[in-house]
Amino acid sequence: MEKILVSRCLLGHRVRYDGGAHGPFDQLGLWLAEGRVVALCPEVAGGLPTPRPPAEIPGGQGALVLDGQARVLTEAGDDVSAAFLDGAQQALALVQHHGIRLAVLKSRSPSCGNRETYDGSFAGRKVAGEGVTAALLRRAGVQVFNEDELAAALEALQALDCS
Ligand code: SF4
Repeated sequence: MEKILVSRCLLGHRVRYDGGAHGPFDQLGLWLAEGRVVALCPEVAGGLPTPRPPAEIPGGQGALVLDGQARVLTEAGDDVSAAFLDGAQQALALVQHHGIRLAVLKSRSPSCGNRETYDGSFAGRKVAGEGVTAALLRRAGVQVFNEDELAAALEALQALDCS
């Protein structure tokens, strides 16, 4: 049975930077009941506390953080790249351990965002880009969806289940 990596905050775990969470999402509940879900919060796994200061990637490209060409910074200018990279590596290790080919990650997060992130200005400005974990998983061939793309994720899962 295909397993799915899911952002912990989408499962109601209060791991967001502000101590909040998201959900419930019916589809994620079904996958949990089927035993498909492998849950991870890359930032907490990387050693950051909850709550924690919000962080953004100037330019919004997690792939550049992976390549050492950009950093993840708090508004105060603290460099939290190492924790973000550690969390991304833990996500990759889980994916490899479980043979995961599909992830549902929280949109717009500097770790988990799969299509958009904030631009580093802390002014609420979004850019096309990915979080650090999302970028690493995509490089590893994982299909990454967000919580607004659960129908597409289900379709992708059914295609993998049939393959
Ligand atoms: S978006 Fe990702 S890193 Fe942020 S709280 Fe959710 S699981 Fe953790």
